[in-house]
Amino acid sequence: MSAWANPRLMSAAFEDFPIRLAIARGPAATFAFLTLSLIYPRNFALPQDINFAITCSNMIEQKPPQKSFSAAILNWYDRHARRLPWRSLPGEQPDPYHVWLSEIMLQQTTVVTVGPYFDKFLTLWPTVQDMAAAPLDDILTAWAGLGYYARARNLHKCAIAISEGYNGQFPSERDQLLALPGVGPYTAAAISAIAFNKSETVVDGNIERIISRLYRIDTPLPSAKTEITTYAAKLTPLRRAGDYAQALMDIGATICTPRSPNCGGCPVSDFCAAGTTGDMERFPVKAPKKVKPTRRAVVFWLERLDGFVLLCRREEKGLLGGMMEFPSTEWCEEEIGVEEAMNSLFSNGFQKWTDRPSEKELVRHTFTHFHLELRPVVVLIKGTDTSILPSGQWVRPEDFGSYALPTLMTKVLRAVVKGRG
Ligand code: SF4
Repeated sequence: MSAWANPRLMSAAFEDFPIRLAIARGPAATFAFLTLSLIYPRNFALPQDINFAITCSNMIEQKPPQKSFSAAILNWYDRHARRLPWRSLPGEQPDPYHVWLSEIMLQQTTVVTVGPYFDKFLTLWPTVQDMAAAPLDDILTAWAGLGYYARARNLHKCAIAISEGYNGQFPSERDQLLALPGVGPYTAAAISAIAFNKSETVVDGNIERIISRLYRIDTPLPSAKTEITTYAAKLTPLRRAGDYAQALMDIGATICTPRSPNCGGCPVSDFCAAGTTGDMERFPVKAPKKVKPTRRAVVFWLERLDGFVLLCRREEKGLLGGMMEFPSTEWCEEEIGVEEAMNSLFSNGFQKWTDRPSEKELVRHTFTHFHLELRPVVVLIKGTDTSILPSGQWVRPEDFGSYALPTLMTKVLRAVVKGRG
């Protein structure tokens, strides 16, 4: 379809008459208008944003102004690039291990949160081979607090794959990277572009926002992803693709922010349809959010007479896979009472094991797809026979720091400690 017929671009372009009307009529009319405006400037005045009109004309003819767009981006990056711990300095060769580690950590997590974790990981494991040789438990423990723990398990698997399959050297091609554990299309493109300067199109959340505003894309996310990637690919330069991707990330993080974008300070405002029409915050359009269900459970702080507390390991696959936890009833939407939960844990009747289970303050946590409410219950185990309890490790609370406890379980720990006064 000729983009002259693209209603989105056209509506962005036609708010100023008559130049926009001329654009609507086609290249010949546009040329005629521009010629007349030179001869009779009073009668055929050009709007202030003629630059934009010409840009739209380029877009409309499906000729994205790739060179000038990327030149504006790179020019801005040379002066304003953020200094981040994983970024190489100008003129330095990026380290693929650093790029990979930061990209995995930054998924679903902010730059501010990732900074100290990135430093800690590099101190513990300066090379990918060091990480491959470490026990998974050490990786999970160091990762605790970053969330989405499947990333940590895949991090370890990927380190082993690089160490054993590639002699410790990251491959540079997108397809090879895609075959690695935990490396999806975004991460493969980012590593290939940033670490190896390949002309790959990188589209993260920040870049998604910029592209959807540049073209005023009305399709809601996530359906719009393919459309956004197609536009982004047309703009990706052949040279300095890594700097270009990082520049867009920086612009998205500091200028083209979700609320109140600073279009006045934006290096690509001349190219931006939404920036011109002033409805930037409408983009990206998002599909209405589904209401998250709430799941509930009773979580047990099982404490022996010698002060040791029971920790169990979650199954390797699934949510918080491989992490340590306090045992709990099943997480489900139906509420379960403390007495029923106690009876399900101690099949012979809990009175034999403990006098008075003590309830603590409710712990709330939100995962991607559901909210969770945990009711902590402290149970002091009488006697020494703990064989009927779930299998796990008995640990002194002061040693919990050596175990991979996810944030959710540190909340339970805090609720128990607070409840004891
Ligand atoms: S002009 Fe405004 S809306 Fe457009 S990319 Fe720049 S900051 Fe974002």
